Amino acid sequence: MDTKNVKILIVGGGIGGFALAAYLQRHGFSPVLIEKCNEWKTIGYMISLFPSGMRILEDLGVAHMLKQDGKKLSKFVLRDNNGKLIWSKSFSEIENRFGPVTEVERELLHTMVREAARGVSVRLNTTIERIDQKPEGVLVMFNDGKEEQFDLVVGADGIHSGMRRYVRTRISSEYSGCTFWLMWLPYPKVDFSPDNMEIYFCNGKAGLESILRNIEIF
Ligand SMILES: Cc1cc2nc3c(=O)[nH]c(=O)nc-3n(C[C@H](O)[C@H](O)[C@H](O)COP(=O)(O)OP(=O)(O)OC[C@H]3O[C@@H](n4cnc5c(N)ncnc54)[C@H](O)[C@@H]3O)c2cc1C
Repeated sequence: MDTKNVKILIVGGGIGGFALAAYLQRHGFSPVLIEKCNEWKTIGYMISLFPSGMRILEDLGVAHMLKQDGKKLSKFVLRDNNGKLIWSKSFSEIENRFGPVTEVERELLHTMVREAARGVSVRLNTTIERIDQKPEGVLVMFNDGKEEQFDLVVGADGIHSGMRRYVRTRISSEYSGCTFWLMWLPYPKVDFSPDNMEIYFCNGKAGLESILRNIEIF
């Protein structure tokens, strides 16, 4: 296949979009990636990276960027509001069989996959207005009104994917009733174990999770 002439559009510059772009580039394709944001903002908190994810980063040649900043997790711990243990699960079985579970700041993970996809054509501030499936390809109209034809369009636009509506699928996202708020707060008085992911439930409604950031506990 003449991969250079296959026109591929990836919609969404998140972790998935950039990882796919990196692999396509490695296999000789020249995808175009569009992202609705106009810059890469430093938003997002932590992502738990399981060994399968780490293997991808190693394969993409960017795992070394993580080594000093990733936090290896030993245990997942749930406690009540008084700190009493409700449940805990050690990650040692997973670690022994497959490798460590690591917590990484999303911002760093995003930087890593972007680095892996260096050279890919990225268009910021760009989204899709309309898609028409034609016999000869997929005709895309962008938010600036311009039209372009692609052989393949991939929706990598996250959990609230707008691309989903173009695919004949019944999959949709439903609110489960749980809301998870995250924020960085200096909280030095709590005796968190830095090796654990510990969640404290407060009055059954809210929780507090210890997260390590830049080797300080917040
Ligand atoms: C800003 C941000 C912060 C996050 N922080 C955390 C976190 O702290 N912890 C955690 O566990 N998970 C977090 N997530 C979710 C996590 O990154 C993803 O669920 C996971 O990495 C899967 O990646 P994804 O590529 O499928 O989607 P995402 O990483 O969600 O990326 C989707 C991308 O598509 C873009 N996009 C959406 N619609 C369009 C459109 N119509 N046109 C063009 N671009 C579009 C979005 O702006 C985004 O950049 C965050 C996601 C985002 C976007």
